Amino acid sequence: MPKEIFPSSYVCDCGYVSHHFENTIKEMKRLSLKRMQRLGSDDGAHVIIFDGGEMTAMSCPQLGTLRGNHD
Ligand SMILES: [Zn+2]
Repeated sequence: MPKEIFPSSYVCDCGYVSHHFENTIKEMKRLSLKRMQRLGSDDGAHVIIFDGGEMTAMSCPQLGTLRGNHD
């Protein structure tokens, strides 16, 4: 399952690590309290999904959509 590296990086099961600005992640989490947010990874191939104030899934070009460890 994808993992969050505090405060603003995400590790896919394929080994890819996507780094983001801390403020970007804070904003994604804040907005996701109202509705689901999708954030493209820094390589443009992955999509990180936020819902309910946290990362819930990551979409991988090799492995498909992977659920986060929150639900
Ligand atoms: Zn991946």
